[in-house]
Amino acid sequence: MNPISAPRGTNDVYPPESAEWNRLETAAREIAHRFGYGEIRTPIFEATELFARGVGETTDIVEKEMYTFVDKGGRSMTLRPELTAGIVRALLEHKLFAQGPQRLYAIGPFFRYERPQAGRYRQAHQLSVECFGVAGAEADVEVIQLAATLIAHYGLTDAVLNVNSVGDANCRPAYREALLAHFRPHLAELSADSQRRLERNPLRILDSKDPKDRPFVETAPTMLDLLCGECAAHFAMLRRYLDALEIPYVVNPRIVRGLDYYTRTVFEYVSSALGAQSTVCGGGRYDGLVQQLGGPPTPGVGFGLGLERFLMVVKAHAGEQVPARRGLQAIALGDAARARLFPVVGEYRAHAAEPAFADWQDRKLTAHFKTADRNNARWAVILGDDELTRGEIVVRDLKSREDRRLPLAFSAAEVAKMLVEATR
Ligand code: ATP
Ligand code: MG
Repeated sequence: MNPISAPRGTNDVYPPESAEWNRLETAAREIAHRFGYGEIRTPIFEATELFARGVGETTDIVEKEMYTFVDKGGRSMTLRPELTAGIVRALLEHKLFAQGPQRLYAIGPFFRYERPQAGRYRQAHQLSVECFGVAGAEADVEVIQLAATLIAHYGLTDAVLNVNSVGDANCRPAYREALLAHFRPHLAELSADSQRRLERNPLRILDSKDPKDRPFVETAPTMLDLLCGECAAHFAMLRRYLDALEIPYVVNPRIVRGLDYYTRTVFEYVSSALGAQSTVCGGGRYDGLVQQLGGPPTPGVGFGLGLERFLMVVKAHAGEQVPARRGLQAIALGDAARARLFPVVGEYRAHAAEPAFADWQDRKLTAHFKTADRNNARWAVILGDDELTRGEIVVRDLKSREDRRLPLAFSAAEVAKMLVEATR
């Protein structure tokens, strides 16, 4: 029988790479908590209607990227293509907006039917950070600083913050007209996607990755020239706060973001380490979203950071770094040694912060050392018949190859305690 393979565009994550995922998720949680953000977990599938309304009918996501299915009850369901809409749905359902501003983060998978390539998958993972209820630019800069802190934590010096404003319901209509006037004469030269976008949502053309569109996108009018007074003031405040926090950025009038619900601030972290899929993190302000989903008028701002892409940038920065050795490999040679060492390892695992590896099989010492290398263990703890006779246990430093001998004290707990000290 042929083995079954994973669906296209999905990834299995297993050791040692899964440790990198854990490290990133732990750092993200720790930083989010430091900023006063609490975790929210919502279902990975929702009513299709939620995304049609919450992401926007004219977006690539809703037009062609959603995993939609009819469940056995005849309801149209969709695997979430992003996390924000579900979070807003949950906040409305549990009446949390009534309690004042909400600062939340979520980590988890999202699903998009895209053409798989490096950095672009059908199941990918995001850190989604959302601040609801604060209209001022303080909130925009707060979430940007949260992303900046994670990026700085990893020392990703080539990730550049791009900021822009897409205006609001006051000033965007005029921009739409300006874009229509700019693109219409070149309609036939635009990509098929952009031709379709022109009348429905010309802003989306600015987000095009098609080289055919590039010359026209580069010469397009910019929103920044057309911002109304309030949007201009908001953008000025954003820049002032970024300067005050010494967060470097560039103003990039081409950044529009793919989702319809953005107002005013939009931003992206872009890394040259990624090639074509260069956006690590994208976000902005979405003051109309909560209302669009049936809630009270509530400002919001946040971002989605792609974990796969983030880890690709981390890898590019680190090069082929060898991870540090840690923990011990317990090696018992013979039945009597095994019976003596087994409870010691059990006690060690109950008390040590570092891992204890042991495979308990009857194998040669060299085979055990190979396993220790594969586990990237720092120490080997060896017990054979000779050691048993002498009442000793050998602790080998696998880096320096130096041996130490420890007395095999009376109880397993006592030996384990000495090992914890010796392998610190
Ligand atoms: P792109 O322009 O690259 O398609 P996007 O604007 O569709 O990105 P968002 O919806 O803002 O992306 O999602 C936030 C982040 O999630 C992106 O910045 C990126 O890091 C990541 N991301 C988006 N789509 C994918 C995907 N198909 N595979 C892996 N990561 C993705
Ligand atoms: Mg996309």
